[in-house]
Order: sequence, then C-alpha cells, then structure tokens
Amino acid sequence: MSQILKNKIPLSGLSKDEIGQFISQELNWEKFRIEQIHSWIYAKNSDNFQAWSDFSLDKRVILAEKFAIPLVETKERQISKKDKTEKYLFSLPDGQLVESVLMRFKDRDSLTACISSQVGCAVGCPFCATGKLGFKRNLIAAEIVDQVMSMQRISGEQIHNLVFMGQGEPLNNLDNIVKAIQIFRESVGIGVRHITVSTSGIVPKIIELGETKIQINLAISLHSAKQELREKLVPVARRWNLFDLMQALKVYFDQTGRRITFEYTMLKNINDTNEDAQALSDLVRDLPFPCLINLIPYNSTDSEFECSDRNRIQQFKSIVERSGRKATIRITLGSDISGACGQLANKNT
Ligand code: SAH
Ligand code: SF4
Repeated sequence: MSQILKNKIPLSGLSKDEIGQFISQELNWEKFRIEQIHSWIYAKNSDNFQAWSDFSLDKRVILAEKFAIPLVETKERQISKKDKTEKYLFSLPDGQLVESVLMRFKDRDSLTACISSQVGCAVGCPFCATGKLGFKRNLIAAEIVDQVMSMQRISGEQIHNLVFMGQGEPLNNLDNIVKAIQIFRESVGIGVRHITVSTSGIVPKIIELGETKIQINLAISLHSAKQELREKLVPVARRWNLFDLMQALKVYFDQTGRRITFEYTMLKNINDTNEDAQALSDLVRDLPFPCLINLIPYNSTDSEFECSDRNRIQQFKSIVERSGRKATIRITLGSDISGACGQLANKNT
C-alpha cells in the first residue's frame, strides 16, 4: 500500500473535471477553487499544500487531510554517467512497480520522457525484458500522467516530448492512453504532435486510434518484413499478419494524415541479413502512405540475442533506403542503468 496516500484521495494526474468532482464530493467550496487547485497541480507542479498561498491556512489543512499528491511514489532515481539519462522506479497505489526514463538527446535541447502504460506486458516479444514480466494490469490515466509530473518535479526540468515506449503495449490499454493524452495536452501542456505511441501491431486498436483522429505519432514494431520470422519476434503477428497490419495503417493514415514510423530492432544473424533488408525495402517501397524506418540497435537483456555489428546496420540501412524511404538509426541512451529500449524490468542495476 502506498506510503503517500494512507487512505487519502490522490489529486495528481487527474483531468480538471475529475479534480472538480472530488472537490465537490468532499468539500463544499466555490467553483473557482477548482481552477486554483488545477493550477497548483499542473502549472506550479506543487506537492506541498502548505505552499498553496491563495488558500487560507484552514483550507490548506483540510486539503492536506483529505488529499495527497503525488499518486505514484518514487522508489528510485538512477542517473546514467554516460549520457545523463534518468531512470525512475515508481510504485503504484497497489504496490505494483513501473519504470519511466528521461532522455537528453544531443541534437535537441528539449527533454523526452519514455513512459509506461501497463504493469508488465502480455505480448511477450522474446528480446524484451518487459515481455518476460508477463502482464499484471493496465495503468489508469492518472498513473500515466503522474509519471511525467513526478519526473518534472524531481528533475526540476520541463518535459517536451513523450514516447509511450516504456513498459506495456499501449494499444492494449487504449482508453486510458487516449485519456492521458488529453490530460497531457490540456493540463500538462505537451502537444499531441510531441507524443509518440509505439505498438506491436494490435490491428483493431490501430483502427480505433485512427478514428479518434488524434494527431500523435504512431510507431509500429515491425522487426521483420517476413511473416514467419515476425511471428517469432512479435507474437501478436500470429493473430494479425503483415497484410492486415498494412491495411490497418492505410486506414489509419487516411483518418489522420500522419506519417508512420516502422521500428526494427537489429538482431545479429536473426533479422539483419541483406535478404531481410531487401524484404523490408520491398515492403515499404509501395506502401500507399508516407513512412520512416527506425533501426534500433538491440540492447542486451537476459536473452540469447545479440546486437548486429555497426557495419551490418549501415549496410542494412542503405539497402532499405534504396526503396526511396528514409531510414534512421536510433541513438542508444541509458544502457549503463538498463534504461534503454526493451531493458525495463523493474530490477536494480
Ligand atoms: N510496447 C511497445 C513499446 C516498446 S519499446 C512496442 O512493442 O511497440 C520501443 C521499441 O523497442 C519497440 O519497437 C520494441 O519492440 C523495441 N525493443 C524491445 N526490446 C528491445 C531491446 N532489448 N533492444 C532494442 N529494442 C527493443
Ligand atoms: Fe510488450 Fe513492447 Fe516488450 Fe513486445 S516489445 S513485450 S509489446 S513491451
């Protein structure tokens, strides 16, 4: 059980309407108080009711008796010596754990946060540490939002970009991520175009997400353009094959007009041959929507996989680019604190 909450109502991570509901249920205060509370939580990111200077001392005591901030409790913060990436271990009100990562890219002065959408993950990609945890539960929207508010409060820095690339398959928790994205936009001040959702390819949910017409960036974990191999690397491919996936992405593009990113983790002697590159090139060449290929050097986990050599990745990239589509190689950050893609397993390093 959370040490912070102790039977109090958590106020952080909520939408303005939800804050309003709790305030009117618990306290018979004037409506303008909701706006003030919202501003202390989001604009000022305060977790200390005693500092809420536009409330009388009596009211501050009442607030502190009934409510608590934050919702997620920070258990640990690790900072990479290599690149100053920060990894946070959060405990949720029921004691479950999730991780989030704060990244600094050399070519940007803005901060990017990688956040979790589920405790564990049911998809079970064999090269991913989160997949090994199995699925525990979905996060609620407030738990997603509060990861960002807590990282901002603790680091003292403003986050500008978000990637749903932490633990979990975000589209298996679609309602909560859509709700969280709305709160990011309306309350936290992070625009939807600065938010990326990465999915293993849950076809019906891609269609549903498209119907919302939210202008986020969508990234698809492809990892192979060959159906048989993809089924081994991304087990949901057994349910929705490459053809279904590409059709869903066309529908998604028609709804949103957004370019799609394909993620491709480079696994030595598994999916990194010239033939694999050619298969990927052939697949993306004729797709009826704009796309970008992002090659991800494999980050080690407790698995039999190895990362492809640097030269192999370069060669792979140039074959893929013959399709006329752009390919990039993802920069690896936070590997010394197990904070890189696929390494989040709630373990201390
Ligand atoms: N659950 C989401 C987000 C995962 S993290 C999804 O699967 O799309 C972002 C990317 O990192 C995904 O493409 C994921 O497949 C990939 N990934 C997972 N484990 C990895 C590892 N050990 N090394 C490199 N990339 C990995
Ligand atoms: Fe789940 Fe994504 Fe890891 Fe696959 S890569 S097991 S979908 S978190």
